[in-house]
Amino acid sequence: MNSSKQAQDSIAANPAMMRLIEDKRQGLTHSTDDIYWMINNLNAIPDYQLTAWLMAVCLNGLDEIETQELTRAMAYSGHVLTLQRHAECDLGGPNKRSANRGFVDKHSTGGVGDKVTIALAPLLASLGFKVSKFSGRSLGHTGGTIDKLEAIPGFKTDISMKDFEKQIEDIGICLAGQTLEFAPADKRLYSLRDRSATVDSIPLIASSVMSKKIAGGADVILLDVKVGSGAFMKDLSYAKKLAKQMVAIGKGLNLKTRAVITNMDQPLGDTVGNGLELIEAIECLEGKNKEGDFYNLIYELASLLVSPVEVRDAIDSGKAYVKLQEWVEAQGGDLEKVKEANTAKFSLEIKSTKEAYVQELDALAVGKAVHELAYKALEGGSYNIDNSAGVKFKAKIGDKVMPGDLLFTVFGNVEAEMQDCADKIISAYIFSEKKVKQPKLIYKTY
Ligand code: URA
Repeated sequence: MNSSKQAQDSIAANPAMMRLIEDKRQGLTHSTDDIYWMINNLNAIPDYQLTAWLMAVCLNGLDEIETQELTRAMAYSGHVLTLQRHAECDLGGPNKRSANRGFVDKHSTGGVGDKVTIALAPLLASLGFKVSKFSGRSLGHTGGTIDKLEAIPGFKTDISMKDFEKQIEDIGICLAGQTLEFAPADKRLYSLRDRSATVDSIPLIASSVMSKKIAGGADVILLDVKVGSGAFMKDLSYAKKLAKQMVAIGKGLNLKTRAVITNMDQPLGDTVGNGLELIEAIECLEGKNKEGDFYNLIYELASLLVSPVEVRDAIDSGKAYVKLQEWVEAQGGDLEKVKEANTAKFSLEIKSTKEAYVQELDALAVGKAVHELAYKALEGGSYNIDNSAGVKFKAKIGDKVMPGDLLFTVFGNVEAEMQDCADKIISAYIFSEKKVKQPKLIYKTY
């Protein structure tokens, strides 16, 4: 038994927490004072009591007010960015101030090929939003935005708070790695949930996600809740409940909050792999490939906040691309070197052997295959990442292919591993002789 476990076991049960556990076990409602008391006194509550309370919440839930107050209490349990006040005081000049449409943060529950933030963040900044975002690294089969951005030569994501705020003031956008201690109460609760089968609770997930957005200074929150084989949620009705709950929390706390539920049964866009996804996102703002699901999702998400005409104009006029250049330059990156730095030595084309329609393209299988090719575990839990490794799709669900037509291309630097990756992706396809409809991209908007 290690010493921290012994220390936790020997902390006496907190009598006030005992009452909260009993109340929740009986399905009673906590007062706002009770919730604030618990979050403000986390250090005086042993793990075993918090875990018992978390299980009681999983079984009996939290109502809307309880969830909202838990979110607020967790958000304010640590450092809270006050960008809005900063902007009002310091941005100087009514013109500059009126150009600020709000501090926006976007959250995705994670998917395969999800490079949305890389294009959407500068697009929104070019439309007058202040984009303040803290992103994570790759989690299992889903890639992380920070990993993808680090495929830009020179791009820095380790930024001091002072520089973060200054960059937002100067150019309206900054994206950094999650180094700051936002919502430490959520961190403690999440680590217990992860070890006690209590992650899977809508009020707990919703408050966990939203507390970090609020602590990060957002007053406009865009949520992309993904559902399907490559997503954390496989069930549409569960995803709807989670999206509704997060929007309710945002509204209850006077934040402009919108959510979409999107399809993650197949990878998003044409590419999976850090460098390839980065290039696809850059090309989206260059106005290339305006047909696919990736472009459509960017367009639909931005159109939840401003008129579709403005969104299209920002992309077509090059305004969004110019903002991307400014952003990358401000964080030390060099867009000109992206293609060269992310070009793999080898490519392997896989072609169709028959005439058929693509019926399925399992996002989870693709995500795992690409992760295995590109991420090599090192001692100590970190990874050696090959940013140029990945896959580019030509045929996705609903497409018709003829014998000899390209299905996809695998890129990599270790030729011996590429066939294995390709085989796994071939197994991710299911074909049909009958015509297959293009899948729905957005199931629901809140
Ligand atoms: N992501 C979070 O930040 N919190 C959860 O509870 C689940 C996913």
